[in-house]
Amino acid sequence: MNICCVRHAEELYDEFKSEYNGRDSLMSHRVIELLSRFEDCGVLFNTFSEVKVVNLENFATAQIVPFRCPECSERGSLVNISAPLLLVIWRTAMIYMRCIKSWSHDQGKIRVELQSNLDEQRQEFQNMLGEYLTGQSSSMLTYQGEIDKIKDVPPMCSSLFLSLVDIAQIWVIAHEVSHAISKDILAEIIPELMAIQIGSQNFCAQMKLLPRAEKSWKEELDADLIATLLIYLTEFKRINADVENIHAREEIGSHLSGGIALACEAMYHIVNSNFPFKSTNPSDLEHPPLEIRWKVISNYLSQIAQTNASVDFHYLAHIIGRISQMLTIYPN
Ligand SMILES: [Zn+2]
Ligand SMILES: [Zn+2]
Repeated sequence: MNICCVRHAEELYDEFKSEYNGRDSLMSHRVIELLSRFEDCGVLFNTFSEVKVVNLENFATAQIVPFRCPECSERGSLVNISAPLLLVIWRTAMIYMRCIKSWSHDQGKIRVELQSNLDEQRQEFQNMLGEYLTGQSSSMLTYQGEIDKIKDVPPMCSSLFLSLVDIAQIWVIAHEVSHAISKDILAEIIPELMAIQIGSQNFCAQMKLLPRAEKSWKEELDADLIATLLIYLTEFKRINADVENIHAREEIGSHLSGGIALACEAMYHIVNSNFPFKSTNPSDLEHPPLEIRWKVISNYLSQIAQTNASVDFHYLAHIIGRISQMLTIYPN
């Protein structure tokens, strides 16, 4: 974006903060770090948008403010990501990894044993969700304090889960930014865009939704898959591998599956503790439920990675799902 556009985005950001009672967040540094780690995504996102992280008192996960610059007339957008959401993703990973007792490789398979008593983790997880919803923390959260808690986690497991946090957080950002970048521009960058759009259109048509819901479902699923593909392609470049390389596809694909599962997991629990009695009939909902989003994403990932079926491609997502079930109970 031009300097004048960035300046205009800053003005809009200040207006946004005063309208929604938002505050600047320390997580801004974290996002700068992520955008440089996933460099290709970073360059693309910064070209078309200004990404900000804001502490919001309401429960919005993110907001996009599209604009036309008053000075140069270029289009741009301000993307505001909720700092509490990024924090919940990290804390979810930190609590979940503490549920794992052992993590080992056995003849190409990963064996995971969970702790037998998860009372402490269950309580902490519920407290964390409560803090997210009320905006009030019951205890002081410090980075060092949280790091100390994971000292007994098998090292292979903790480093893996921390790398899933990176994927989960950049994916949430990529999802929002892909709402903000015009489809014409995206079509030039990712030739697979047409296939994504036709895929989600067909999927939504099968669901027999009301027209308004159909439009918003399609937009959400498009953004999910575009974000997934952008990060997938970025990862090949980052590790300097060819997309034809099956081992790289397997590694990047399964890693992405775990990271996106973590993001969906965090959002799923936020939604469920916020609206525990929501309708269970998907066609009543304006937005696709997280279960359906995850199903569409995981299916898409299996397709683009096209690995052989000898390994469980979504094993990290399954481990996350198993822990999730053990930590939570929701009313039907
Ligand atoms: Zn401008
Ligand atoms: Zn969205």
